[in-house]
Amino acid sequence: MSSEQRRGLLFVVSAPSGTGKTTVVERLVQVVPGLVMSRSYTSRPARTGECDKVDYNFIARARFDEMIEAGAFLEWADVFGNLYGTSLADAEHELASGRDLVLVIDVQGARKVRRRGLDMIGIFVMPPSFEVLEQRLRGRSQDAEADIRRRLTTARAEVAAFAEYDYVVVNDELDACVERLRAIVIAERARLPAMRPVVARIVDSFSRKEIV
Ligand code: 5GP
Repeated sequence: MSSEQRRGLLFVVSAPSGTGKTTVVERLVQVVPGLVMSRSYTSRPARTGECDKVDYNFIARARFDEMIEAGAFLEWADVFGNLYGTSLADAEHELASGRDLVLVIDVQGARKVRRRGLDMIGIFVMPPSFEVLEQRLRGRSQDAEADIRRRLTTARAEVAAFAEYDYVVVNDELDACVERLRAIVIAERARLPAMRPVVARIVDSFSRKEIV
């Protein structure tokens, strides 16, 4: 990495379960060059159709506990009885390479990142309403009734945390939601701290040339 290369920006996206945040962020990283999505570690077993090292790094609970003990996580949380975490080394690797990184994590995880005092841009993705979220969760036939009720109860608490974030985006329609997120990334990239290495080069070019 050159000394002038900018460090990547850290975006943290949270949303209640069933809001469609993973789909939205997967689309976002396809349309924004230089933006990557973090792959979390989880102790949850893979669901049908999920692949190790693609959807998550699926690991045993004992291994997860070892990683916590070793301080290997930037943040981790217990979500619906399973552990989920972001590798500190993986995140650092992306950011140091100058790539912007998106973590798709729950509200507790976002709080942990914030408490570490890291520069982060928090984005909360909201479902259009409680009723729409309920319909979406019931439409995913894989979830049992008790599970749906638990997710809705958690969603109620999570939605109340929106004010902890820098941006709020409503996922009423997929393309529109992706477009709003793209606009946020582009705007954040144009802020002075992110632009400093580029600006330094431009300003330097002005001071090197004599005006005749
Ligand atoms: P799921 O099991 O449905 O894939 O994910 C359940 C919840 O865990 C989602 O709200 C998701 O955002 C959250 N999650 C996924 N990865 C992480 C992570 O690395 N850290 C934290 N704190 N939450 C995560």
